[in-house]
Amino acid sequence: ELKKFDGQIEFKNVWFSYIEGEWILKDVSFKVNPNETVAFVGATGSGKTTILQLIVRNYDIQKGQILIDGIDIKTIKRSSLRKFVGQMLQDVFLFSGTIRDNITLGDPDITDEDIKRASNYVGLDYILNKLPEGLDHVVKERGNNFSSGERQLISFARAVVYNPSLMILDEATANIDSETETIIQESLNKMMNISTMLIVAHRLSTIQHSDRIIVMSKGEIVESGKHQEL
Ligand code: ATP
Repeated sequence: ELKKFDGQIEFKNVWFSYIEGEWILKDVSFKVNPNETVAFVGATGSGKTTILQLIVRNYDIQKGQILIDGIDIKTIKRSSLRKFVGQMLQDVFLFSGTIRDNITLGDPDITDEDIKRASNYVGLDYILNKLPEGLDHVVKERGNNFSSGERQLISFARAVVYNPSLMILDEATANIDSETETIIQESLNKMMNISTMLIVAHRLSTIQHSDRIIVMSKGEIVESGKHQEL
């Protein structure tokens, strides 16, 4: 069980396939230090999103090791990982229930104070303030009564409610209004100073703000360095 977590993450000779015989990641190794921001770039299908999925154990690897602060994530329960790794992946998952339910995912230890702090941090309070029921406002199946930008903000609040030392995110540029995009971008810039960030990056500005860029091709790391060096 992880007690305190600095946010260091390491892939050691990781091999992974979704379907037997089709390697999607081939001998991937890298190490990211606490508070570092790393952008993953590369052609579509090169394995960038897969790397993020593996960090939260949505799938288990076939060979190698993934270590968080030196601890093999195989030994950490997925429910514990959620407290240390904030995630914003492409498919925002919202279910029918209140906004509160959608942020706590049923964890009774998360207080309304925690939620308010997270909402304020990511700019969701701006939406909550417009809703008479606030956190009790009902989210319909798949969040259909919210815009995709609002859904992103709810999932962002969910991601930061535990003050994660590590954030993983898939930069979704599609379907977000520019106002929400600005709000999200500002929060991410703030987070870059206090958390380790692994980003599947599509925007040039994200790439420029990263400490390091890892270039993927066909399941392998082909280059790594600062923006100016590549
Ligand atoms: P993009 O920039 O398009 O998001 P990516 O570099 O993030 O691409 P991945 O999403 O990691 O690439 O996908 C890598 C490969 O794994 C692709 O060939 C994809 O088709 C395959 N793949 C992804 N998810 C699954 C899955 N659940 N089952 C089987 N194959 C998958």
